[in-house]
Amino acid sequence: MDKPRKSVIGVEISDVFIPPDTIQKWQRTVDLMARVFAVPAALIMRVHEDQIEVFISCKTDEENPYCQGEFAKLNSGLYCETVIKTQQLLLVPDARKDPAWDSNPDIALNMVSYFGMPILDSRGKVFGTICALDSKEHDYSQLYQALLRQFKEIIESDIVILSELTEKVRLLAELCRSNQDLEDFAHVASHDLRAPLSSILSSAELLNCECGEKLDESAKEFLRIIVDATRRMDRLIHDILIYSQAGHTKLSLSDVDFNCVLGVALENLKSAIEESQAIITADSLPSLEADSRSMSQLFQNLILNAIIYRGSEPPRIHVSAARSGEEWIFSVQDNGIGITTEDQTKIFESFVRVAKHVSGSGLGLAICKRSIEQHHGRIWVESSPGKGAVFRFAIPCHRV
Ligand code: ADP
Repeated sequence: MDKPRKSVIGVEISDVFIPPDTIQKWQRTVDLMARVFAVPAALIMRVHEDQIEVFISCKTDEENPYCQGEFAKLNSGLYCETVIKTQQLLLVPDARKDPAWDSNPDIALNMVSYFGMPILDSRGKVFGTICALDSKEHDYSQLYQALLRQFKEIIESDIVILSELTEKVRLLAELCRSNQDLEDFAHVASHDLRAPLSSILSSAELLNCECGEKLDESAKEFLRIIVDATRRMDRLIHDILIYSQAGHTKLSLSDVDFNCVLGVALENLKSAIEESQAIITADSLPSLEADSRSMSQLFQNLILNAIIYRGSEPPRIHVSAARSGEEWIFSVQDNGIGITTEDQTKIFESFVRVAKHVSGSGLGLAICKRSIEQHHGRIWVESSPGKGAVFRFAIPCHRV
């Protein structure tokens, strides 16, 4: 947390940002105040560390000696200093009658009467003051005091809204920064962690090639465990990297032919398809505006899962698409082990793995969900155990 800013007169300062349209509204407020109070100067002052600023000054009277944007030093005996220090209303009908005000710089400007209140933000930090000054003796009835309080409350309610907005913008910027840090970290970590893993893997393979014959059965088993664990770790690091990027990197949108996207995914899965003797069929798919890389990654994850979580039969997978209102719904249907109703929503969360007999990172479907949500779409599964699963994802037809 940032250290609170303090003024030399010992109060915490509000650092809310005031946008131009609020400044215009406040200008109208002080102009009105000057007319109603019949004074040459009505002001909103803003306190800083060691100075006070004429933040808004009425434009109703040529005799007003205060110009917007002017600064005066604090600790110089100004009326506003007293208001800020005491955080109370101050009414000085005629400062010439009280020697305590003799060195007040406002009197040098012929402003002998003062009527002001503090402006505070929702946490009690001081923004400044709202005040009326006159070149002649001027007293204010209870009614005028109520009116000044009303003006003050209008300004303060604007500050409350603006403080909340400023805080939200600050939190959003912090979130963006920490997301970026996390992404950078995942990038560096994945690169740095995968390099030693690849040396372990190649050394283990070399050992197996060169000395395989000299190794007894238990040494070979240990070597196999090392290779398997290293491959698993490499896959996990790879998936964490993809997951950290999914949904954050900017989409590269174009008119995408989903038949081609599916073709790329199948090409990348060639060996898994051959090994499992999977039969994959597809209907004609539409063209839609999307990010082709993340869409082929999506098909790849869903089809690989359909292969991995197969039943006793060789995998049969069918890909189709149907228009429904303003979206296209794609389906990847398999004849695998299926998923219980209870697990159907859980599996899209990160690191959730249901079928523990197969090694995986538990990130594949979480990556799919992030990519689809970035396309303003939805993803879900329909299934029952032993009866296969249909993973469906919907993408809006209009521009994403
Ligand atoms: P991983 O496969 O790496 O464990 P995923 O996020 O891809 O992670 O899948 C999460 C879980 O969802 C898996 O552990 C598995 O239990 C289940 N699952 C995913 N796809 C299928 C499928 N086609 N059939 C049955 N279960 C599946």
